[in-house]
Amino acid sequence: MNIRIGNGYDIHQLCKGRPLIIGGVEIPHELGLLGHSDADVLTHAIMDAMLGALSLGDIGHYFPPTDPKWAGADSLMLLSQVNQLVRSHGWRIGNIDSVVVAERPKLKPHIKTMRDRIANTLELNPDQIGIKATTNEKLGPVGREEGIAAYAVALLISD
Ligand code: MG
Repeated sequence: MNIRIGNGYDIHQLCKGRPLIIGGVEIPHELGLLGHSDADVLTHAIMDAMLGALSLGDIGHYFPPTDPKWAGADSLMLLSQVNQLVRSHGWRIGNIDSVVVAERPKLKPHIKTMRDRIANTLELNPDQIGIKATTNEKLGPVGREEGIAAYAVALLISD
């Protein structure tokens, strides 16, 4: 089989006193995402999709939140490491698609920059990186602005 598909999901709590970093972009907002690394929820979902496609486990296995080494880590740097792992197994990314679910702030103005940064990190063309943003229609924890969630799928192609 020369193609594989994986999916990833992540959610982080919103809190005061943290930056809001999504898809490698710092977005102006009065709340940020809580986490051991930079808590980049979208990049985490993408990494899990890539790892899942090859049944290589999840990001918690490679970058455990108990390890001080990853405190405040730049998730794009972690993404680059996951990409190297995928490449070392003889696979490359066909495309990625993703959704960020956030009630606020408006993410649309930042999506092009997110696509550019993720594509650059993965050495891909931005047209291989789909990023969509939606609200949760005020429903549930995401709708109450207690957190931001992200979903991703990755299609990998054998070299
Ligand atoms: Mg995470």
